[in-house]
Amino acid sequence: MLKIDIGRSNRGLLIFIVAALLFAGFAITNTVSFSYLKNTLRQSIIETELPKASNEIYSEIVLDLLPSTVASSMLANDHFIRNWLTSDEKDVDTVTQYLADARDRNDAFTGFLVSAKTQNYYTSQGEIIHEKEGDPNAAWYFRFRDSNKEYELANGLNVDSLKTPTVFINYRIEIDNQFAGVIGLGVKLKVIQDTIKRYQHISNRHIYFLNSSGQITSNSLGAELTENMLEKVPGLHEFLNQKEVLTPKVFQYVHAEELRFLSLRYIPELKWWVLIEQQEELTFRKVRDMLYANALIGLLTIVVTLILIAWTINLFHKRLEALAMTDTLTGLYNRHIFENDIKLTLSQRKRASIPVSLAIIDIDNFKLINDKYGHLEGDTVIKTVAQIIKDSTRKSDIVSRWGGEEFVILAHNSDLHNTELLAQKIRKNIESHTGFPSQVTISAGVSEAIDNDNKDSLLNRADTALYRAKSDGKNCVRKFEEPS
Ligand code: GH3
Ligand code: MG
Ligand code: MG
Repeated sequence: MLKIDIGRSNRGLLIFIVAALLFAGFAITNTVSFSYLKNTLRQSIIETELPKASNEIYSEIVLDLLPSTVASSMLANDHFIRNWLTSDEKDVDTVTQYLADARDRNDAFTGFLVSAKTQNYYTSQGEIIHEKEGDPNAAWYFRFRDSNKEYELANGLNVDSLKTPTVFINYRIEIDNQFAGVIGLGVKLKVIQDTIKRYQHISNRHIYFLNSSGQITSNSLGAELTENMLEKVPGLHEFLNQKEVLTPKVFQYVHAEELRFLSLRYIPELKWWVLIEQQEELTFRKVRDMLYANALIGLLTIVVTLILIAWTINLFHKRLEALAMTDTLTGLYNRHIFENDIKLTLSQRKRASIPVSLAIIDIDNFKLINDKYGHLEGDTVIKTVAQIIKDSTRKSDIVSRWGGEEFVILAHNSDLHNTELLAQKIRKNIESHTGFPSQVTISAGVSEAIDNDNKDSLLNRADTALYRAKSDGKNCVRKFEEPS
């Protein structure tokens, strides 16, 4: 059975346009949100995250030094020390013990006292060193003495094997408003080590500590920056000279084709810099993975939507196709379908040499039925006749409503004789049907296809036979026979 194809390419175009719109919308939305997120993330690194991290490290260092600073201040105000200094510094052992106790109490590595009167440097280890003016090792003392500062934090010269920096807390002792000496503790800044260790677990960041001249003194594992690289970062070198700026500043530079952010902050207490390096790519990776997952879900949704659209369009198309093929009153094929089908059947007949016949059926005196019982009742008669014809034929026979109260049967693999028998059977079935408002009969004309037949010639012969059936008094079947 031939089907009429209503705009297959139109359907394809429609789905293509919908798909193009969905994919374009998807691509634009994703690109926009991707770059928006990247910019937001970059801004947040520069403006918030890195400065905050730098300030936090600074606070941790200050907090770490605070107890030792307070302890040193208490030492400077202790009566025992003040009395000892004013009583000619006798019995050094007691001072050594006093300093050792202070050292142990505060988890320091040394406790010390310098007397202004004798310029002796006493330590918790029991050493006594005489501080001479002009000795570079003693320079700190004279500088502090003349500075009028209440206290200062001074870097130890050496860092140990773990690169733990040391800090000396120098506290001024004044007796009767006169400078009487310096006392304090030497502590190891473990917080630096702890911070460096902590940064080994932060995949997208590295930390560096720089001394006041910008040399890298310690850094986290895997950090790649060197002083030479830092020299090339625009503006960074100049910033290292601005020790009075106490807020972090973020620089950008590209290394190994990756954008990195460098946050630099001065720690005046140590005269050191803390530098945090953050790689944008590593930071963005997590966000990107999430975006990719989102995009994948979006793509799947689009594909499912397109499949649903295509399925729905096809479903409705099939329904439309069925509607276009059938006659609404009887449900039989319509004339258009029949005309297509007869062409196909005739060409098949030629190839397979199987007989093909045709019967035209016309309800007798139908005008009278309409006149007597009304149009609606007439419709019902047409429907019933159609059903009887349908029930009397085989599946392979194509039954269509030709128009009005006329039907055509295209009988496959059936010669003139057999089709005549079929028409007779239908005629009898209608004649004997009792469900009509009054007796209904039909007349039929039958013809068989011959070589070189076309649709019209075959139909015309059946029509001629039908005309004869009508003129022979109706309610009969006539076949077309060649005049001999
Ligand atoms: P004949 O025996 O010579 O065929 O006489 P007839 O009255 O059937 O004559 P004809 O075939 O010329 O008339 C058919 C009538 O069928 C004319 C038309 O009003 C009516 N008709 C056509 N289509 C429909 C339809 O769909 N419903 C109804 N109720 N009537 C229809
Ligand atoms: Mg008619
Ligand atoms: Mg009629």
